[in-house]
Amino acid sequence: MSGAGKAQGAAALRPAPLVTELSEGFWQGVREGRLVIQRCLGCGVLRHYPQPMCPACRSLGFDWAPVSGRGRIYSYTVAHRAFHPAWQAHVPYAIATIELDEGIRMVCDLLGTPPEAVAIDARVEVFFEDLPGQGPMPRFRVVDPAVGESAAARVSETKGSRGRERAGEGTPR
Ligand SMILES: [Zn+2]
Repeated sequence: MSGAGKAQGAAALRPAPLVTELSEGFWQGVREGRLVIQRCLGCGVLRHYPQPMCPACRSLGFDWAPVSGRGRIYSYTVAHRAFHPAWQAHVPYAIATIELDEGIRMVCDLLGTPPEAVAIDARVEVFFEDLPGQGPMPRFRVVDPAVGESAAARVSETKGSRGRERAGEGTPR
C-alpha cells in the first residue's frame, strides 16, 4: 500500500494539460507568464476555450490577445471529495468560473484560497504557479473579497427555491 499511500499525499502530480495545435498559443503565453486569449482576425471577438472557427463571423483566422488577467468570480462550487489523488490534500476547495474584465469566462480551481473566502463577484487576478514537471500554470486568487457577497450569506439566501448558484455545495440527500 506504500504506492497508494504516497499517491494520497503531496507527491501526487496533477495530470498535465493536453496541449493541442489549437491551444498551443494559449500555453505559449503561459510559458511566457502572460494570459492570452484567442482573438478572431475577422471581427476581433475573443473566445475561450480555443476553437477553430469564430462563432460570430465564421472566420478561421485568429491570433492571441493579451488580457488583463483580472476579473470576478461569476460562479463557483466547492469540492468536498477529491476525484484524483493530486487534489486529496486540498479538499475542500473551490472551483470557480472566472469572468475576466474582457468578458471571457474560464474555469479554474482556487487551491490555496479557503472556500469561505470565495464569493460571487469577488475580484480575482491571475498568477502563474510553477507546478512540478509541468512548468507555469495560470491560477487565480481572490484579491478583493469585500466586493463579493459572503458565501455564508449566499447559501443562507439561496436555501429554499432559489438554489441556482449553490450546486455542488455538498448538501447531503
Ligand atoms: Zn469573428
